[in-house]
Amino acid sequence: MKAEIFDIKRYAVHDGPGIRTTFFLKGCPLHCLWCQNPESMHREQEIVLTQIKCIGCGACKAACNKLDNTLRLPKSQCTLCGKCIEACKTGARHFAAKLLSPEETAMLASEDKLFYDLSGGGVTFSGGECLTHAQFMEHTLRLCKESGLHTTVDTCGFVPFETFKRVLPYTDLFLYDIKILDPLRHKEYTGQHNSLILSNVKALALAGANLILRVPLIPGYTDNPEDINAIGDFILQELHNDILRIELLQYNRLAASKYGNSTIYNDGGPGEYPLPDLTPQTKEYISHLSRILSDKGISVFCETI
Ligand code: SF4
Ligand code: SF4
Repeated sequence: MKAEIFDIKRYAVHDGPGIRTTFFLKGCPLHCLWCQNPESMHREQEIVLTQIKCIGCGACKAACNKLDNTLRLPKSQCTLCGKCIEACKTGARHFAAKLLSPEETAMLASEDKLFYDLSGGGVTFSGGECLTHAQFMEHTLRLCKESGLHTTVDTCGFVPFETFKRVLPYTDLFLYDIKILDPLRHKEYTGQHNSLILSNVKALALAGANLILRVPLIPGYTDNPEDINAIGDFILQELHNDILRIELLQYNRLAASKYGNSTIYNDGGPGEYPLPDLTPQTKEYISHLSRILSDKGISVFCETI
């Protein structure tokens, strides 16, 4: 059993406590308008072309006569043989993901154990939605725990609770996204209702999981004081404040560069960044949102630039 891992970030400091290695797995059941990792939307392996590295030499087209003049090929016709990648000498063409087994992943995760031990860090699994790979995650987390690593799962929460039950014994911390409580706007912004996400987080709190909730603050979408107030009430009434803290994540536009023609996928890719040019929140505004929660007795963390 292998999982499609599209990125491995070493020495990460924002994905849980201490210094960490973060594995990003492909595949996500949500399609958030502000998705930071559009390369993770589809679970299957893909061929990608990073435009900035392409010198237009045509070697890939010579290796694969099925490629059209824009160097694309519908997924249904691509055998993933990799000949176009071998032909490309600039590294512009590459597979979107590495396929790694739980054993390979746990071994890679253990390489920086010294740094984890010194900093109180460990390994984090993110995505996409890493828990769409339920069997892989259960097995990999168990191996990581057997190696003495602190384990964190970064999740959107939109998976069957059965999956949480499988990984719970091997997960030290969940970073759990709560985007917005209004079910209709949640559906509009992410493509899915939030009832499963909310029932899962309640069940996790009841099961004694260590939870840090995270709210991506998208200007005009999820950062209204009323919405933050509603999340605060949910934490008090439904979770009985049984979380380690809530983190408010300031908006940034870094993801926009991953859209459009910067990276071409054989099958079209994520298209243009769907949000307009939004301005990140000021420190003062985030402090105001933070106070709404801290005034309720909820522990809040926010990092601003
Ligand atoms: S991986 Fe796909 S696009 Fe590349 S040579 Fe093989 S069939 Fe053609
Ligand atoms: S993707 Fe690589 S092989 Fe194909 S035209 Fe660009 S540089 Fe040449």
